[in-house]
Amino acid sequence: MVYDVAIIGAGLAGLSLARQMSLELGDVSVCLIHDKSFPNPLAVHKVGESAVEIGSYYLRESLHLKDYLQNKHIVKMGLRILHTDSDGVSYKEMGIEGTPYHEAYQMDRGLLENDLYELVKNKVVIHENHRFINVEKKDGLHHIVALDQNSEQKLIKARWMVDASGRRRCLAKKFNFKTEFPLTHSAVWFRVDGFVDLNNFYVSDSSENVFKGFNRSHSTVHLMGRGYWVWLIPLAGGKTSIGIVFDENIHNARDLINQEKAFLWLKSNQLGLYNELMSKNYAVLDFKYFRRYTYVSDEFISHDNWAVIGEAKAFIDPLYSNGTDFIAYENTMVCNTIAAYLRGEETKRYIDLYNDFLSSMITSFVSCHYNSYAGFDSWYYLYAKTNMDAIFYFAYHCVIFMNNKLNELDFLCDSLKIFSPLQESFHKFLNYVKSEDFKLCQKKAKDFIPLGPSIEAMMNRDIICENNNNESVMKLLRDNLYVFERLVERVMKGEDFENIFYPPQASSCLEDEPSEVANWRYGAFYPSPPLEAAQ
Ligand SMILES: Cc1cc2nc3c(=O)[nH]c(=O)nc-3n(C[C@H](O)[C@H](O)[C@H](O)COP(=O)(O)OP(=O)(O)OC[C@H]3O[C@@H](n4cnc5c(N)ncnc54)[C@H](O)[C@@H]3O)c2cc1C
Repeated sequence: MVYDVAIIGAGLAGLSLARQMSLELGDVSVCLIHDKSFPNPLAVHKVGESAVEIGSYYLRESLHLKDYLQNKHIVKMGLRILHTDSDGVSYKEMGIEGTPYHEAYQMDRGLLENDLYELVKNKVVIHENHRFINVEKKDGLHHIVALDQNSEQKLIKARWMVDASGRRRCLAKKFNFKTEFPLTHSAVWFRVDGFVDLNNFYVSDSSENVFKGFNRSHSTVHLMGRGYWVWLIPLAGGKTSIGIVFDENIHNARDLINQEKAFLWLKSNQLGLYNELMSKNYAVLDFKYFRRYTYVSDEFISHDNWAVIGEAKAFIDPLYSNGTDFIAYENTMVCNTIAAYLRGEETKRYIDLYNDFLSSMITSFVSCHYNSYAGFDSWYYLYAKTNMDAIFYFAYHCVIFMNNKLNELDFLCDSLKIFSPLQESFHKFLNYVKSEDFKLCQKKAKDFIPLGPSIEAMMNRDIICENNNNESVMKLLRDNLYVFERLVERVMKGEDFENIFYPPQASSCLEDEPSEVANWRYGAFYPSPPLEAAQ
């Protein structure tokens, strides 16, 4: 048999692509070649547990998993950033102070992959315990060779081949892709058998504390310090994922090389968390070390009918939990290209545009993280960066994906004309906050910073257009560009963030309809109308 598509690797990227194709491409024939068997063991040793808006939208809407995610995983209470003092008790906090506007999830990866497997196993052929070892192109088809556990060879023929083999990067090795390693970040990661509840060890009865009484423990919690951050992600079943992510230019990788050392490191750097772990004596379920995890290979979809997705393509940085976002974008672009191919259409335009699109997306994410960890001990830097990074994310990439615009090539081309100045403005901001000028103009920031009135009201609420026709979505993108550029100008003028992110009109408009929020964004807040300015 000749398959339309052969996918190598049944991890999150491969399984979700198989599900997406079976939902969107009718009677397409797909096979998955996977080197292990299902179900995954409980300690599956996988990261990627926290999803944000794009990845969550993809799982919920494109893969039709809304009820499943709500029932079997945890609905996330946004990102919560804490700047902690060395006494292990005092802290500052930034986060949303209500339910997030767009639902996102904390996912147990082993469970999610097992359940995706159950969903696709009757729709696609799954060659379990078969390890991809080689591929040749013959007569216009990929002849893929996989080995089973007894070293027996299986030949699988397919019109398209998609590499979803994660960090093993089967095709990158086979075809010798050019690969860059732009960041010097590393991580250790483990899970404990228990619910590590922030409310037990970082609480404040300060009158300024806007988060009192709010269920913060379902957030993705980041404990920040110079050159590093520590994540806490609650998982269904009462477990907690804990990761220490650091820049090797600032922290010595040898100090975290095993579980014992990682705990000693926590004692020196995050005493509050260390004391909590020690006092509860949680069992540690697994431990993994990712040395210099960032890489980007320069191939995505080839004119020779193959593609690379998920970590087989690239991984940049976990700070904003964007791994599943990239899977969402890549899978949808690959699915659209193969759909066009199966309809007998010319695929060149899809492939060229999607390759450009993904590479510009990757460039912005790399710039966002480049040399950024050194500033994580400055509350003012975190204040600026968290707000602006999030607003940048919502301004363009969320709008395109969550209004289902990836399949509209003319629209996508036009939208890149907006993305280009947006990206330029973002780069200006990123350079500025690393500069001496920024250090000199730092002002006192509040200890408890609500992100709802800034990020949500400024950019996040209206990302899905009620009428997602091209005109409405393009207008939203232009407006977002206008707002973003004004924000960058004001940050670079050294204005106080309290004025920039929280204009006096904000609180009275937040309860109003989206159109009123738009008025606030463009009218009361910014005197000139955005369309004139941006067109
Ligand atoms: C430190 C860290 C933290 C992260 N945190 C987050 C986060 O909070 N949120 C988020 O969204 N993302 C996060 N990510 C990214 C996330 O882990 C990845 O996006 C995701 O796991 C990639 O999935 P994948 O399917 O591409 O790869 P994998 O999950 O690795 O799946 C690849 C599969 O291919 C199989 N395979 C390998 N070789 C072969 C072969 N030769 N033949 C057949 N099968 C093969 C493997 O068994 C494996 O199951 C994080 C990444 C890191 C490094």
